[in-house]
Amino acid sequence: MPKKSVSKAAVLPRIRRKGAKTAAYPIIILTALLGIFVCCALFFRPESRFAEDPAVDTAADAGQLDAGGTQAAEPEEPEKVVYLTFDDGPSAVTEDILDYLQQEEIPATFFVIGMETDRAEQLLRRMVTEGHAIGLHTYSHSYSEIYASPDAFFADQEKLCNYLKPIIGYLPTIFRFPGGSCNATAEEWTLNEICRRAKEKGLVWFDWNSLAEDSGATAAPADRMAQNIISTGGGKNRILILMHDNSVRTTAVDCLRIIVPYYKEKGYTFETLTADTKPIQFRD
Ligand SMILES: [Zn+2]
Repeated sequence: MPKKSVSKAAVLPRIRRKGAKTAAYPIIILTALLGIFVCCALFFRPESRFAEDPAVDTAADAGQLDAGGTQAAEPEEPEKVVYLTFDDGPSAVTEDILDYLQQEEIPATFFVIGMETDRAEQLLRRMVTEGHAIGLHTYSHSYSEIYASPDAFFADQEKLCNYLKPIIGYLPTIFRFPGGSCNATAEEWTLNEICRRAKEKGLVWFDWNSLAEDSGATAAPADRMAQNIISTGGGKNRILILMHDNSVRTTAVDCLRIIVPYYKEKGYTFETLTADTKPIQFRD
């Protein structure tokens, strides 16, 4: 009897110990997995986190995060820039545009075409003298001709360069596609090939991210153009505005009288486009 009770007492703890050991396996496995996870997270953190999170990347670029990733005392404001651009000039309204820009002491960029008149040459020289940028917009502006092939496009562009060089004293290295770098007239292959060759030639094209929608047959009301510019530009830091400079656009200056003070008030500066400006493009 005593022998039997001793034997039972000796077996029971052994069973309990075995049960406890079995129950501990999931805890050990979970602990091991957690350890592996933490190690991986620490190991991959620097590249993956900054590469996949543009907000963090931007903050780091802007100096808002210090080396340890904590918030710096005085975050830098991102630069707020407006690029005013006018296509299709020089024209009968160019002088008014230049007068207003001079009055406001701000520069703009003119994507010009081949207007071989004394008046046009005078306006082109004035653009240069007053610090504006000149870009290529094709000589003929004839969609059927320039988009017939990449060769046709660059032959037309060369004609414009030959016309401009003696007048303005340099060869522009920026251009704008008539209709933009994505347009319904040209074939995809043609546009892609023009882009490829442009890069080879060191030319940079600019599209836009804000527009007046002033391409109608008659002049659009200035307040509607301004509203279109402001609504399409939104709160972007870099706003590249497309407007037109031709004899129909008689409301262009009145539109400028609305949007220039508007953006000045919001702390934007006005700059010209150059080949070094970070491009805004519909295709790259
Ligand atoms: Zn145009």
